[in-house]
Amino acid sequence: MSIQERVLTGDRITGKLHLGHYVGSLQNRLRLQEQYETFILLADVQALTTHFDKPKVISDNLRNVALDYLSVELDPNKSTIYIQSMIPEIAELTVYFSMFVTVNSLRHNPTIKTEAMERGYTDMYYGFLGYPVSQAADMAICKATLIPVGEDQIPHIEHARKIVRRFNDLYAPVLVEPKALVGQRLEGLDGNSKMSKSMGNAIFLDSSPEEVQQQMKRAKTDPGRVHKHDPGNPDICTIYAYHEAFRPDECSEIREGCKRGTIGCAACKQQVTAAIHELLEPIREKRSYYEQRPDVINEILAEGTKRTQKIAKSTMDEVREAMGINYL
Ligand code: ATP
Ligand code: MG
Repeated sequence: MSIQERVLTGDRITGKLHLGHYVGSLQNRLRLQEQYETFILLADVQALTTHFDKPKVISDNLRNVALDYLSVELDPNKSTIYIQSMIPEIAELTVYFSMFVTVNSLRHNPTIKTEAMERGYTDMYYGFLGYPVSQAADMAICKATLIPVGEDQIPHIEHARKIVRRFNDLYAPVLVEPKALVGQRLEGLDGNSKMSKSMGNAIFLDSSPEEVQQQMKRAKTDPGRVHKHDPGNPDICTIYAYHEAFRPDECSEIREGCKRGTIGCAACKQQVTAAIHELLEPIREKRSYYEQRPDVINEILAEGTKRTQKIAKSTMDEVREAMGINYL
């Protein structure tokens, strides 16, 4: 990463952020904001693709997600935080892109397929099927080069690269191809899928110590390990996956202990629960600081959105010129 990167990433405003976001994306953002110009998108429009009938979830959570960012110490002086729906140029660019993106290329996108299945969609909504196109516009509008995301997003970044390439070939090379920086994937408490806001298998960043304790009770361990001294298989244990994420230095010891049956599941769970408490405590403190200062949050969002609006206008001037649709 020797060139000057412009970083963009964001989250759907469908609920508060959880440990999966921390491991998969927020940690990378924290590191990158120290080096590069960073943009963070509160994706309220993309949230509508699955929540068009529950807009209140989105308006109720917008500030919650902003609070999540600030409480993990994303710094508004280094990271520009902005609201997607307040940048109408993104919607405009999405329309232009959609002229040359085929329906089949979207249907075959593996993340779209998985998400459609998880949500029980037999027929897909046009906006949902097309959300990778709107993500490509998110990236292109601010000429982002580097996108720190979880692995479910890899097909979308690949598609965005193709869309930008096609646009540049068709009209003029004014847009920039982004690349992904992929974070770890954290599995959910149920052990079946990734930790996710919508699947009821998450530990949220604002959870109280009691809530964490309670939720960790549900976390799946190796089902074949019935007695404390039975040898276990760490590779199918959610608690071991959490060790890898939150206490990587203790992993080899835990792995051996589990395989030999010298460390029991309860003790193992307790150790990783303590690590999660340790991680969340300062985040909770920072959150309560900002919770008492709603005006500061509004100012941060207004300022970040204004900054991004300028960039979006300038990119769209170039786009329209490239396409020859700047008539008057
Ligand atoms: P939803 O269920 O509403 O889609 P989500 O929990 O999947 O919500 P998103 O807003 O879709 O969260 O994802 C935001 C970013 O966080 C993406 O880059 C995604 O890859 C990453 N991410 C989400 N969940 C995890 C996870 N469990 N592990 C690693 N990264 C994750
Ligand atoms: Mg998601």
